[in-house]
Amino acid sequence: MKFNTKTIHGKQHPDKAYGAVMTPIYQTSTYAQSAPGDHKGYAYSRSKNPTRHALEEAFASIENGEFGLAFGSGLAAIDAIIKLLDPGDEVISTSDLYGGTYRLFTNIFKKWGIKFHFVKMQNAENIANYVTNNTKLIWVETPTNPMMNIIDIKAVAHVAKAHNILLAVDNTFATPYLQQPLDLGADIVMHSATKYIGGHSDLVLGALVVKDKKLAERLYFIQNASGAICGPQDSFLALRGIKTLHVRMQRHCENGKAIAHYLKNHPKVNKVYWPGFEDHPNHHIAKDQMSDFGGMMSFSTKEDSLAGALQILKKFKIITLAESLGGVESLAGHPATMTHGSIPKKEREELGISDSLIRLSVGIEDEEDLINDLKQALG
Ligand SMILES: *Cc1c(COP(=O)(O)O)cnc(C)c1O
Repeated sequence: MKFNTKTIHGKQHPDKAYGAVMTPIYQTSTYAQSAPGDHKGYAYSRSKNPTRHALEEAFASIENGEFGLAFGSGLAAIDAIIKLLDPGDEVISTSDLYGGTYRLFTNIFKKWGIKFHFVKMQNAENIANYVTNNTKLIWVETPTNPMMNIIDIKAVAHVAKAHNILLAVDNTFATPYLQQPLDLGADIVMHSATKYIGGHSDLVLGALVVKDKKLAERLYFIQNASGAICGPQDSFLALRGIKTLHVRMQRHCENGKAIAHYLKNHPKVNKVYWPGFEDHPNHHIAKDQMSDFGGMMSFSTKEDSLAGALQILKKFKIITLAESLGGVESLAGHPATMTHGSIPKKEREELGISDSLIRLSVGIEDEEDLINDLKQALG
């Protein structure tokens, strides 16, 4: 089965009770048993719920994995991965990563005795310098946020395999429509389904997908024991989102390409960060491991002032200033004051996050309307 068909039919079956084509919202905490322990596969909804189970199967299918696990948020899914580790273990992570992930690693798990190394992974050889006998996990995010750097998953997987280290990839920005990390050698794929998977800015949910049964069992134990599951309503919405992922992504990519080129040619724009440009430093890797370049991008202006950026953001009429990304509506964000505001200015600028940098999550509106909105806001 190919990808577009999988989003709709992959591991999905009409509901057993009445043949409902869409899995119903099983809004129940518990299930009647005919004798103690004698039930139809469901005993308590933290452990298993039919709506969540249908979603977990769909996740496994679209990521070319065997086992899916759904959580109450993307961060709850990451939390479950780190709980695979023991005090004294070490993690090597991408340096340019989602702020919430950085906060979870450094403010929560560090004090439990887990050591994190934040490493520039555009050159995968850098990783080997940080490997010790205690290294148990490599954490990769690609494309990165907000600088849109690309990391070569295959090359990182090579290092991970050589040292018997687990490799987890946050696939939130790319989605399996663009990139399938398990096929490139990753052991775990993670999603904030809050973004493109849900796709309609109406839920918060996370997921993991793995191929290995033992690893799935360990993660399932943590999911059930720690209890950070998602409810049946949100599971239903995420499942519905998956079924249109491919058509939405196709349009996100088309609009993204048009807008990236429009901005690149705009006299007031200094630089556009988008992996589809041939002069993007990791373009060749993006071309190899992704099927297209997506609708996420950042740009800075020649004037390069905070006031200038705030002025542009204020003038947008269709594009909405908001946190988050990946919904049908175009969103703009200001990394220096929003997502990356807690990073000191000097460090921020070293990462390329200038005061004028604006991040766009290009939606699926008409391209012409989006370009006109940018034109009036920049003009
Ligand atoms: C949003 C996001 C997360 C966190 O997911 P939540 O659903 O908000 O908990 C993790 N990684 C990336 C890349 C994200 O964009």
